[in-house]
Amino acid sequence: MKIGITGCAGRMGRMVAAAVAGAEGARIAAGSEAAGSSALGQDIAALTGLPACGVKIVADAAKVFRASDAVIDFTAPAATLAHARLALETGTALVVGTTGLGAEHEDALQAAAKKAAIVRAANFSIGVNVILGLAREAARILGPEYDIEIVEMHHRHKADAPSGTALALGQAVALGRRVSLADKSVRARDGITGPRKKGEIGFAVLRGGDVIGDHTVVFAGEGERVEIGHKASSRSVFAQGAVRAALWTKGRAPGLYSMRDVLGFVG
Ligand code: NAD
Repeated sequence: MKIGITGCAGRMGRMVAAAVAGAEGARIAAGSEAAGSSALGQDIAALTGLPACGVKIVADAAKVFRASDAVIDFTAPAATLAHARLALETGTALVVGTTGLGAEHEDALQAAAKKAAIVRAANFSIGVNVILGLAREAARILGPEYDIEIVEMHHRHKADAPSGTALALGQAVALGRRVSLADKSVRARDGITGPRKKGEIGFAVLRGGDVIGDHTVVFAGEGERVEIGHKASSRSVFAQGAVRAALWTKGRAPGLYSMRDVLGFVG
């Protein structure tokens, strides 16, 4: 399969390039970077320390979509919006890892899903997708007597907060409790906030150093506390998951898919 990589010189883009180069049945077809990037014109594979593959990084993302069966996108929300429109135009499958997406971006992905297979995940690691299921089940069983707090920590460069994974965990526990996350989430606390309200789903965000991604869902009850957590120690887990998703799109009908679909989770 011909795989294109947008944002291929970024932290994740480089990992994805290495993962595609090492994957059976996949090859790097094209890659793009932001206009003005010093990576433009460089060989994609060489950028990651691999032997050159002869594919030079371009600024025109349309070329990437035309040259690929599937494109893997770990960029920024504005770029992902443009890439969703290109998926709609070309029918090329799109795997989206970018986080911090708003309603406008979601609408563009929904529109693209009418013509192309789109896989979107806040977190492509298999471990995180397992804890999403566990957190949902724990929330269902423990009920509102247990206060839910979601704690995440990431490296100092991360642009959005809370992380897409923390929000996905919030959605999972809200589903387990059959409530709307928008109604129950408390994204910040400062000053005289008063006692915690029953049923709140709290978020706490830490930023620093080179932390790749730590997430914990805390269920705090009277006399006990349950913690469900995940710590990523290498970005390669996200890249491997994204490549697996890209390979999975082969022959797939247009639609908006999740890692649950790719991994074949039931329930
Ligand atoms: P990064 O800043 O290192 O890389 C982003 C790259 O995209 C940069 O090289 C930038 O120049 C490039 N870019 C920006 N606009 C572009 C455009 N229009 N065309 C082409 N390239 C463009 O960031 P990162 O750490 O690699 O993270 C990227 C995104 O992926 C973030 O939203 C992050 O939260 C998300 N992420 C998701 C997962 C997951 O599993 N879903 C895992 C890690 C990171």
